[in-house]
Amino acid sequence: MARIYRDSDASLEPLRNKTIAVIGYGIQGRAQALNLRDSGLNVILGLRRGGKSWNQAMEEGFRVYEVGEAVAKSDVVMVLIPDMEQPKVWKEQIEHNIRPGTVVVFAHGFNIHYGLIKPPPNVDVVMVAPKGPGRAVREEYVAGRGVPALVAVYQNYSGRALEYALAIAKGIGATRAGVIETTFAEETETDLIGEQTVLVGGLMELIKKGFEVLVELGYQPEVAYFEVLNEAKLIMDLIWQRGIYGMLNGVSDTAKYGGLTVGPKIIDESVKQRMKEAAARVRSGEFAKEWVAEYNRGAPTLKKLMEGIRDHQIERVGTEMRKLLFGERI
Ligand code: NDP
Ligand code: MG
Ligand code: MG
Repeated sequence: MARIYRDSDASLEPLRNKTIAVIGYGIQGRAQALNLRDSGLNVILGLRRGGKSWNQAMEEGFRVYEVGEAVAKSDVVMVLIPDMEQPKVWKEQIEHNIRPGTVVVFAHGFNIHYGLIKPPPNVDVVMVAPKGPGRAVREEYVAGRGVPALVAVYQNYSGRALEYALAIAKGIGATRAGVIETTFAEETETDLIGEQTVLVGGLMELIKKGFEVLVELGYQPEVAYFEVLNEAKLIMDLIWQRGIYGMLNGVSDTAKYGGLTVGPKIIDESVKQRMKEAAARVRSGEFAKEWVAEYNRGAPTLKKLMEGIRDHQIERVGTEMRKLLFGERI
């Protein structure tokens, strides 16, 4: 079983009298900076002058500096800008400003795990990765709860790296929910494998192909949309709240029997084989290499693939159907 840390297992003490530089004021940066400040810690922001975040962070009462200056003033540096931007910002603004003994905190292991950022040996390198979107990180904290997180230690210069990671996790509210210890490798690889095979890739293709099949068989696209896309949320909510067995107990016997007998014929063992092939490309670093090269070319393939989805019939029908569901709210 994984080791789970709760609020009483962590202390903010290691962060008292320290300055924490949060680099980035986006989805995670803003939520984490606000939570750390509300936990009574000393937080400054490292941003680019002229960017949209700069004014927002100032208006919300933070002391804001350019990235290099914030790093030079701090004992803890939280790298919360987009993963693909991090290596360049690290090289140009962080690396030469970092003080010996600094605790460097990432929220995702990608750049460290694949060697795209190589920190000096005289700093701690840890990860505190909330398992939820930034909005939830803030909203849960304000409500007196927290979003669970993963913590990991990559480099333990001080000998207290885990204590620092847990202190950050406590400061953002994560220990209120529960914090699981992992490694940079496990977090990075499971994140990529999960999003490719199940969450983003798998679910999207399953829904899209299910829609295409119904339409190709001559059913109305609007009816197909409700059946395979809209209802997917209702089923997912049941799975999320009650588990798979609980979901099955929440649908009709006909749906149970049909799902249990036909499901494994659709998603059969060959799917697992291809999932393992995708996993192998993640584990070897081949996927990361491909994606970094694509990003640095300006992501032309990604843009084209996005256009393909935008123009898919399920999206055109979906735009109309969501008006029925949500009116002008979305
Ligand atoms: P965002 O895309 O929200 O980050 C945007 C912020 O980064 C803005 O403040 C932006 O400033 C700043 N920024 C972007 N590029 C630069 C640059 N070149 N120099 C200085 N500042 C820059 O990132 P996320 O919050 O989504 O992700 C941050 C980290 O958290 C990543 O490692 C991600 O994997 C991880 N994570 C994210 C989750 C999420 O919910 N999104 C969940 C768990 C982990 P400006 O306004 O000037 O553009
Ligand atoms: Mg993920
Ligand atoms: Mg991911």
